[in-house]
Amino acid sequence: MVVILKPTTSEERKNQLIDWFRAQNLGVHVSVGEYHTILGLIGDTRSLDIDLVSSLDIVESVKRVTDPFKCCNRKFHPDDTVITVGDAKIGGGNFCLIAGPCSVESEEQIVAVATEVKKAGAKILRGGAFKPRTSPYAFQGLKANGLELLKLARKETGLPIVTEIMSVSTLDLFEDVDIIQVGARNMQNFDLLQELGKLNKPVLLKRGLANTMTELLMSAEYIMASGNEQVILCERGIRTYETLTRNTLDLSAVPMLHELSHLPVIVDPSHATGIARLVEPMALAGAACGADGLMIEVHNDPIHALCDGAQSLTPEQFLHLSRKVAAVRQAVQA
Ligand code: PEP
Ligand code: MN
Repeated sequence: MVVILKPTTSEERKNQLIDWFRAQNLGVHVSVGEYHTILGLIGDTRSLDIDLVSSLDIVESVKRVTDPFKCCNRKFHPDDTVITVGDAKIGGGNFCLIAGPCSVESEEQIVAVATEVKKAGAKILRGGAFKPRTSPYAFQGLKANGLELLKLARKETGLPIVTEIMSVSTLDLFEDVDIIQVGARNMQNFDLLQELGKLNKPVLLKRGLANTMTELLMSAEYIMASGNEQVILCERGIRTYETLTRNTLDLSAVPMLHELSHLPVIVDPSHATGIARLVEPMALAGAACGADGLMIEVHNDPIHALCDGAQSLTPEQFLHLSRKVAAVRQAVQA
């Protein structure tokens, strides 16, 4: 249920009402907008007398919210959420390019790629240190050493870093990471989501290989209900019967998620297609349909990459993509 307060409501009256809801075992999510304050009620509101609440002189209107997701629901928070890390902003009209290799491989590699992607307009550096690989025999990432190398690249370039966590057991290692990524395979690792919900740090949540948009929002809800409201949603392709591309990029998720939720939505065309030459066209399409950012895999030597070389762009290709994305954004804003 959402309770929209009149713009003239005093702090005191607002707090009295919040206390009254809490006394009835309801969680209250407060969203202060430019004109209105919205109280989003979480919990069993069936016994609440909606007529009584509507009749209060400070209440403008009351609406029942039947969607299972509450904290991430746009009805609870009509304004776009903007995530800020260093100089980068994502959401609410702020567009952000995130780029870097699939995996951190060496100091030379990560610093070289970070320097190049920064020059080309990236605002955040990506790089996997803990890699969820289909095969246990494939390169599993440099793990803790990889995180140290990412921090070194951050020091060299000033770019904030985003990297994937695979298990709650390694959470302490991520203390100095700017954004923690939850990969597609962990989207419904609810223990992990709840632990990340206790942090004051942005979480980039990727859509699972076979998950619906509602399930993605419910996973965001796990993080937010535990107290962390800084969630970025990522469409990275879903599994369909198509085999020519690695996944099928569901771009309809971008406007749909924006409609349903106030959280920023970014697109990852690299894992969606798995093919370097398809990354730019799908990145442009993502920018055109309103994504708040793109996550692109870039490698200085894709042929020798230890992971996902076939979908990695060279720094030159990324620069080309970055320029075209800027042009598309301008065109669609016209
Ligand atoms: C990644 O971004 O490194 C990754 C493994 O992506 P996904 O979880 O989308 O497969
Ligand atoms: Mn990858």
